[in-house]
Amino acid sequence: MIKTFTGPMFSGKTANLLTTYFNMWNKKNILCFKPKINTRDKGIKSKKFTESVDAIEINNLKDILKYLKKNTRTIFIDEANFLKGDVKILSDLSINNNIDIYICGLNMTSEQKPFGIMPNILAISDYIEISKSYCTICNREASFTYYEGNKNSEIMVGDNGYISLCENCLRKMREKNEK
Ligand SMILES: [Zn+2]
Repeated sequence: MIKTFTGPMFSGKTANLLTTYFNMWNKKNILCFKPKINTRDKGIKSKKFTESVDAIEINNLKDILKYLKKNTRTIFIDEANFLKGDVKILSDLSINNNIDIYICGLNMTSEQKPFGIMPNILAISDYIEISKSYCTICNREASFTYYEGNKNSEIMVGDNGYISLCENCLRKMREKNEK
């Protein structure tokens, strides 16, 4: 079984992943992974929880196989959009090894393009939970992450210059930038 939590930044994807983790009783049968390239913080973290969860840092999905133990029943992967590799490794772990895999990752880049291996991960998922954030400008539900950086200082920017936008505000932003 593979379940994927996806959506834009600030949508609470990682909180949903961690809620699943914290609700599970037998942590000894769980392995957690995250990409090595993310140096922001150690482990899997969400603003909603004070506690973070230790994760093994990997570059490629095939690295997971090195850490598998006989008793591994459940795998958690955070920020999967930054990972490389063949998603067949995950579907084989689910089918052949009977392991449940919970994955979190951004579905789109801040240019609204499919992010890395996420399209393939979504294709092999049994369940997909798409979270929404709220638009930085109009408070509607937002599906998009947008890089604002220093372009428009009157808008409140979040982590490293990224904001959430709805379709309407994204369209206005694109039109403005075309001028
Ligand atoms: Zn909006």
